Amino acid sequence: MNHQSQPDARSDPLSSEASEQQYSPVLQAQDAERYRLLAEMAEQSTDMISRHTPGDWRFIYASPAVTHLLGYDVEEIIGLSAYDLYHPDDVADFDNRSPSVSYERGLYTHTYRFRCKNGHYTWLESTSRSLRDPDTGELQEILVVSRDASRRIETEQANQRLARVLERSSDLVIFVDPEKNVTYLNEAARNNLMSDHQTLADISLSQLLSANDYQRLMDEGFTAVHDGLRWHQELEMQGAERKIPVLLELLAHQSLPEKQEYYSLVARDLSEIRAAQAELKRYQAEISHASRLIAMGELASSLAHELNQPLTAIVNYIGGIRRRFSGQAQLSWKDLQFPMEKIDGTAMRAGQLIRSMMDFTRKQEVRKQSLILKDVVQDLMEFCQASADKHHVTLLNEIKDPDWVVMADRIQLEQILLNLVMNGIEACSQLNNTSAQDSVPASYDAPVSDGSDIDHQCIKSEPKAQVVLSAQAAGGVLEISVSDLGPGLPVDNPDQLFEHFFTTKEKGLGMGLAISRSLAEAQGGQLTAENRAERGACFRFSLPLSS
Ligand code: ADP
Repeated sequence: MNHQSQPDARSDPLSSEASEQQYSPVLQAQDAERYRLLAEMAEQSTDMISRHTPGDWRFIYASPAVTHLLGYDVEEIIGLSAYDLYHPDDVADFDNRSPSVSYERGLYTHTYRFRCKNGHYTWLESTSRSLRDPDTGELQEILVVSRDASRRIETEQANQRLARVLERSSDLVIFVDPEKNVTYLNEAARNNLMSDHQTLADISLSQLLSANDYQRLMDEGFTAVHDGLRWHQELEMQGAERKIPVLLELLAHQSLPEKQEYYSLVARDLSEIRAAQAELKRYQAEISHASRLIAMGELASSLAHELNQPLTAIVNYIGGIRRRFSGQAQLSWKDLQFPMEKIDGTAMRAGQLIRSMMDFTRKQEVRKQSLILKDVVQDLMEFCQASADKHHVTLLNEIKDPDWVVMADRIQLEQILLNLVMNGIEACSQLNNTSAQDSVPASYDAPVSDGSDIDHQCIKSEPKAQVVLSAQAAGGVLEISVSDLGPGLPVDNPDQLFEHFFTTKEKGLGMGLAISRSLAEAQGGQLTAENRAERGACFRFSLPLSS
């Protein structure tokens, strides 16, 4: 920078010419002793000591520390104007102050950036003093002591950044002195905790918290941090306009050098989180209510569908009894015992079905218990037998292993298997030559086949269709298969069958498989469908084995 362009700063009556006069040999001799002592000290000092002409601040002397601080040799810097080495941003600042340096107080400290030999700027803190002729009072030169201020400035800048972060933090930050007086509130804390007319002096910790929370902070919090622990707690702060739920963290700090403890409280406003949690809870309650309503709707449809089976079975058994009565004048109880027991059992089961479905709508939890699969399937086969007979379908039960114990809700497990078996029977009946219109069962006392006697004598017509229940266990999972010899799946993508209301039946509801899959998942299982390689469909239902 050309010093000529800074007339105000250097409107020193001592021009460079005057300066030369000023440094006459006479004057130098007068000050020789003083300079000699000064020079000795300067040579040793790690601070840079320099002397400058008053007008343009040219170096007329620099101590050896100049090399360490700025990278110049002493000889190199002599004659250079300090103005040419100031950081451009600091020149104006320096210009504004320099009159006071030279002509008013005569001594001041200044922090600024100065260009090193390598072109980089370093922060210097300089104390300048003007030296005047003791007789005339005329300004002779400026004596400057400079030291590296980079580390201090960097620390200050880092502190300022931290202070800005603290001030702008969305958390409420409160500083408290050793006597627990509030000494600082950041912007968020001021906005939330102080009313317009309050000042910091009006604020006390006790008024920022409820009586209970304040007591906890005093008794537990300050004691804990005093022992070097962090203390945090969910509390409620008393804001200027509302109560604020916060997660409050208390920290203790030690001031230097007195080693006095002071404290910071950082409070995270939980209002939004709490509001979101409340919203989520409301939402979950709505979802749960909605899903109960859907389930109720599904169950109502399913109920109609499934009740049809026991009612048909009861009608069939009664038809059988009627036929027996019509042929014989006298019948003993023994003759009626079996169909009557069947009617009784079937009616009970229908009642149980209704009860369990009502339970399901009331209470959504799955009531799992250890179930011996063989027993569940055996009961089910009996239940389905009448329908199988009606459609001339053979039911084969290959599930015999008494060790297969599953954890499941019995009613739901029966519901799933019932759906699959009934669908299998219906699928087979499509291919069966026997008329589907025949409402008379082949025989009300037809026993359940165990697979070893498919051509059982009680099955009047040769079955052209079969539904087979089998299972296999592997890796803690039991896979139950219900396969049939029907026409196979009506779609390429088996998942379509599990969509609500998908049906290919004239009077179908299209709900059975959808409900079965959701029930299977509620048991921790899976339900899938596929075509068998030879003919027909296979539904696989996997369940965790009970350990
Ligand atoms: P619905 O029996 O009322 O139609 P489901 O959900 O039980 O309702 O079955 C949906 C559809 O899946 C049936 O209409 C049928 O097309 C098909 N389906 C189910 N089981 C079988 C099966 N064993 N073989 C072939 N198709 C089947």
